[in-house]
Amino acid sequence: MGIRADFTAATRRIIAERAGYQCSVLKCGLLTIGPGMRPRQTVRNGIAAHIYAASPNGPRGTGGLSDKERSEPENGIWCCAAHGTSIDSDDGRIFSAAQLKAWKRLHEARKAAEVNGGALNHVGLVDSISVNSAPAAALVGKTFNLGMRNIFSGPNASGKSVLTRLIASVSYPDHVAEMSRHRDVDMEVRWFDPITHDVTTKGRSGSVTHVLDGNPVPYVARPYKTILLHLRRGIQIDNIAALSQVFDLSASAMRSTLSLLPSESSLIKDVRIDGMRVDFTLDVDGRTWRYSEYGGLPSAYEGLIVTEIAGLHARHHARVEPTVLLLDEFLDNYVTSWQVEAIERLQGTAEHAQVAIVTHSPQLLIEASRDWSITMLEGGTANRRDSSLDYEVETRQHPEAASKETD
Ligand SMILES: [Zn+2]
Repeated sequence: MGIRADFTAATRRIIAERAGYQCSVLKCGLLTIGPGMRPRQTVRNGIAAHIYAASPNGPRGTGGLSDKERSEPENGIWCCAAHGTSIDSDDGRIFSAAQLKAWKRLHEARKAAEVNGGALNHVGLVDSISVNSAPAAALVGKTFNLGMRNIFSGPNASGKSVLTRLIASVSYPDHVAEMSRHRDVDMEVRWFDPITHDVTTKGRSGSVTHVLDGNPVPYVARPYKTILLHLRRGIQIDNIAALSQVFDLSASAMRSTLSLLPSESSLIKDVRIDGMRVDFTLDVDGRTWRYSEYGGLPSAYEGLIVTEIAGLHARHHARVEPTVLLLDEFLDNYVTSWQVEAIERLQGTAEHAQVAIVTHSPQLLIEASRDWSITMLEGGTANRRDSSLDYEVETRQHPEAASKETD
């Protein structure tokens, strides 16, 4: 204990170069290297800031990472001097680890595209959602910051499913209309595309209003893309019409998506489409499974197939607009090893899309890799690795809500 996990000069250079020597903080992008006053002089004013702290008691804690892990390039975010300072000020409360990880990832994705002669101009993310009123008392008065890879957990009635619907409702306001029949809905969502947008959505007795960036609008014309899957809806995976409905795609777009699967998926080896029928051939642990031959596969396979389609669909969208894939208890019926396999596979397939998983499964919280930021909703308890204090419970009270009575 007590050893500082500082970056070496070589590590700092890797962090800086991966960022193109530009500040990674969303909307900043300040260049941190350039010519100085004299002909042979250069100026550098960037900082490699720690996502999890260099010292065990530092800002944002250790995240359960060892000293060695905290001194590696993955734990550093390149910033301008001003942002480097604010990241470490106020005990790191201004920016969460989930946010910093998301910004690093997005910034590096943009630089990777640019270095290859392209651009990811519309890449962005949903940054936060603040709930002032909703049919889930546990959410009221809280702000949730989202990273790229999120797991939400908590007991029954902690508002997990409501939260996913609120996130989805910027694209699908009918969720708010429906919820507001039970209780008024009042929430704000901030997202980047890469310009910052704030939308306030209010629902009352089934009617919904939006204020986007300060202006009332009938609906959000260009929201982020939401893909929402939930357990309660059984999915008939061998039918194009059913899949089209689940993914909110036309039948022809669904066919094209499915026909791309074998070239993009390590799980799905073949997809045959005959009219509205679909047949999948899977490669699982060296065994080949054909959906039609088994009259349906064990349901876990169906879950893996749908998760795979969802991941690739999300990846496709994330190249042109901010995209969030929400899986609401979708994997909870499967054994933990299947759940872990499905979500870790998503890390790659969903690429630059944000993923948020809602789960009841305590085991998933323990076995998911550290790339996942865990938010425990009110009343929930669980142990993750060595320190329960390392949860990224990114909730804070609104100043207004703290003084207000909520029921
Ligand atoms: Zn900056």
